[in-house]
Amino acid sequence: MEFRKETRVFDAIFKFITLDIYSAEFIKLTPIVRLQNICQLGSISQVYPCATHTRFAHSLGVCHLSKLLYKSAMCAAKKLGLPEEGSEEYDYWLVVVSIAALAHDCGHLAFSHVAEPMVLSEHGHEEWTYKILYSHFFDEFFESAAKKLNRSTETFRRDVSLVALGKDKYLQFVPNAESCVMGEICAQMIASDQVGADRMDYLLRDAYHTGLPFGNFDYHQLIECIQVTLHDGKPCLAIDENGVVAVDSLLVGRIQMYQRLYQYSKCRAFNYHARQVIAYYYKVNQITDSLEKYVATTDAHIHIEIQKAIDDPSHPQHENAKAYRGLSRRKSVMKVDLDTNLTDITQLQKKYNLTKKELYFEEINFKNRDLTCPVITPGGKIIMHDFAKQLTYIPHRSKWVVVDPKHQDLLQVDVEPKKT
Ligand SMILES: [Zn+2]
Repeated sequence: MEFRKETRVFDAIFKFITLDIYSAEFIKLTPIVRLQNICQLGSISQVYPCATHTRFAHSLGVCHLSKLLYKSAMCAAKKLGLPEEGSEEYDYWLVVVSIAALAHDCGHLAFSHVAEPMVLSEHGHEEWTYKILYSHFFDEFFESAAKKLNRSTETFRRDVSLVALGKDKYLQFVPNAESCVMGEICAQMIASDQVGADRMDYLLRDAYHTGLPFGNFDYHQLIECIQVTLHDGKPCLAIDENGVVAVDSLLVGRIQMYQRLYQYSKCRAFNYHARQVIAYYYKVNQITDSLEKYVATTDAHIHIEIQKAIDDPSHPQHENAKAYRGLSRRKSVMKVDLDTNLTDITQLQKKYNLTKKELYFEEINFKNRDLTCPVITPGGKIIMHDFAKQLTYIPHRSKWVVVDPKHQDLLQVDVEPKKT
């Protein structure tokens, strides 16, 4: 493989994005090209018709933002004994960040998150990202690029995988792996809750493509205010106090997007029907049994299956496919009180003589709710700032029932969330 020239792509959000010689070749590889056929928001385009943007566009955006973040945050690197601009080491880690950003979502299945808990193991799409990063699809790339970067293939591949997956996830798959300071810092640049390029891009991109007026925040200021610094003797990313308001608006935007988009009842109803078809398709075709099949499967296969199911009344997913396309009534999705548990739902099923299919319970526990982050005060002190304390309305979990519309009125009183 030859690495000859940079390339530029035009993006709806960031306009021209420049890809270095390595990234320009990397985006031509099958698992990355595949992301052009995986919709970022799964079935949400059934509710917000313009939200048809792809994981590929998102990955380009994450690549662009993480490079900006790297260049800004590494300004103070020399003082900390980290690679300074102009050094070979500095350039190497910039390449690692770019490739990791482009690869960080390559393990998503068709329709992104929609059917993940039903189809994949508890390690989710990250397990597939890991498998794909270590598969033959990228062998030639890692070998040729590592040679040009004066690293061993193993080192370059490990660094990219560590940064793409984050330290904790990576260590789950490779328990005895060596980590390194630069790898951990670069991983934070992509995945951090408060300052990561992944979150920044999806909020901006999802807001743009849905047309919702939330999710916008001052990302220029935020990136400008992120620095690598020492905290408890360890290098980490911290925010200059001038950037605190930008982080606040990112977090507020995220909550609003959760309520109006990611966890919006109507979107959850479409997700419910799509999820059944996806899980059926993956099971019947044994997609997760083979890496080749997994990488070859995209949203297009699910759309074809939906059409097949609509056309064939004997297809096991006939009703779900029709409901998904709006040809029959969708399930109703109702938020329930947080105190509700699975036993309550089982009692309701008994009370109204409903099957598990007719009354279905969903619970979301938002992982990582630790929103503390080092902040640099005007006097140069580092303090741990708890963003969640200020934003007290950040939800920690939510619970839902999915019910056939004909039973909705029956259940209204039983499942209605308590007024607060
Ligand atoms: Zn992502």
